[in-house]
Amino acid sequence: MSGAANLRPVSTYPSRPVLVAAIGSRCPYCGEPMACSLRHPSRDHIRPRSRGHALTADNQAVVCRTCNTDKGSLSLGRWLNRLRRAADPRAGNVADFMRQTGIEVPG
Ligand SMILES: [Zn+2]
Repeated sequence: MSGAANLRPVSTYPSRPVLVAAIGSRCPYCGEPMACSLRHPSRDHIRPRSRGHALTADNQAVVCRTCNTDKGSLSLGRWLNRLRRAADPRAGNVADFMRQTGIEVPG
């Protein structure tokens, strides 16, 4: 294996066709159907890449662009805390998603 090949991401899943196919399914964070424009499906790195977490399939979820943009580079736990402080109705969905994904939910 050449060194250059090792510089490629481990996985780019879910690929663009997977994102397009997700149109109409519900965003796991807000529960709204994903659609074109603001609720377009996008790839979220559950544990942020900016904090050194891997670009692997089990660290990615297909979520709507609105939620992905709002979460930004926060970890799910930090985003959940922010949603709770703002009494954002997505907090319950995000906590459920974290439990299903095996991520510790902050008290
Ligand atoms: Zn959403």
